[in-house]
Amino acid sequence: MEELPFLKKSGEAIFQDRFVKKAAELLIPWNSSPAKSRFGLIGAPLSKPSISHSGAAFAPTTIRKMLSAYTTYSVEMDKNLNEGVIDFGDIMMHPTDIVESQARIQATIIDIIRKKTSENLLILGGDHSISFSSIQAFATFHKHIGVIQFDAHHDFRNLEDGGPTNGTPFRRLLDQGVISGDQLVQIGIRDFCNSKEYREYGEKHKVSIFTMKEIRHLSAMQIVQKAIDRLGQKVDAIYLSVDIDVLDQAFAPGCPAIGPGGMDSQTLLEAVELLAQYKHVKAIDIVEVDPTIDFRDMTSRVAAWVILSFLKGKLERHEK
Ligand code: CA
Repeated sequence: MEELPFLKKSGEAIFQDRFVKKAAELLIPWNSSPAKSRFGLIGAPLSKPSISHSGAAFAPTTIRKMLSAYTTYSVEMDKNLNEGVIDFGDIMMHPTDIVESQARIQATIIDIIRKKTSENLLILGGDHSISFSSIQAFATFHKHIGVIQFDAHHDFRNLEDGGPTNGTPFRRLLDQGVISGDQLVQIGIRDFCNSKEYREYGEKHKVSIFTMKEIRHLSAMQIVQKAIDRLGQKVDAIYLSVDIDVLDQAFAPGCPAIGPGGMDSQTLLEAVELLAQYKHVKAIDIVEVDPTIDFRDMTSRVAAWVILSFLKGKLERHEK
C-alpha cells in the first residue's frame, strides 16, 4: 500500500515534540496497566444532587483532557513526574436514582482500595455530594482518618430540605459517625456563602474552621501547618477534599458557586503539593468543576494542575 507520510491519527496532537512528555501520557487504563502504581485515578461523574444547575458530571473527561495541556517536567524540582497513574475510568451512574449512584461510588472505591494496586487515590467529581461516599469508603480502611476540606462552604446543610445534596456531605459524615468533628478541618470558608446555624453546628462538633479572612495573609506552608496541627498525631490517614469554589471567581469561573474574596490558585496548588508530602495523605478529590460554564477550560486546567501538584508532592517526598 502506498505510504501516506503526512497523515496522523485523528485526535492526536497537532504538534509533537520528541523531547516533551505530556502529563496525560501518565494515565494508563487499568486493564492494560502494570499490576501496581502508587497512584490510581477514578472519575465520579455525578452532579444530579446539586442544588443549583451543574454540569460537574462532565468534569472527569475534561480534566483528563486538560492533562494534555501540560508536560510532566517540573522546572522547580528539575525532575519529571515519572510514575504512571492507573486510570480506573468513571463510575457508571444510575440515570434517576441519586442514592443508588452515591452507593455505587462508595462500593467502587472500596473495591479499588481493596485491590491494593495504588496507595494514593485521586478522585474526580462530580459535585461535592460524592465526597460523602468516597470518604465513607476511605474510612473503612483506616482506624482514624483526618479530612482537610478546601471550600467556601461548610456543606453542613440539613437533609430535611433536600436530601443528600452537594450541600450536605460533611453533615452526613458527622451525623452518621463516619468521622467526628475533630477529624475535620475546613479551610477557606467565606462570608455570605453560609449561615450562622451551620457555623454553630461545626463549632458544636469541634470542627476546625478557618475562614478566608484567617488564612488570606498566610503562606501555603502556614496554612498546611495549621491544618496538620489541628489533626494532630491521632490520624493514620488523611483525605483531601478540594471544592474548586474555594478559589476566587477570577481563578475558577467554571463552577456553580462562583464569588469574590476567595483563595488564589497558587496558594491552593502549593498547599496541595505540601500536603502530599505527608505520608498520611493518601487520597484527594476535586469537585464542583463545571466545564459547561467554564471559560477556555480555566477551571478544569486548575483541577488538572491540582493532580500534578499532588503527584509532585509525592515525588518530592520520595526523593527525600
Ligand atoms: Ca462544597
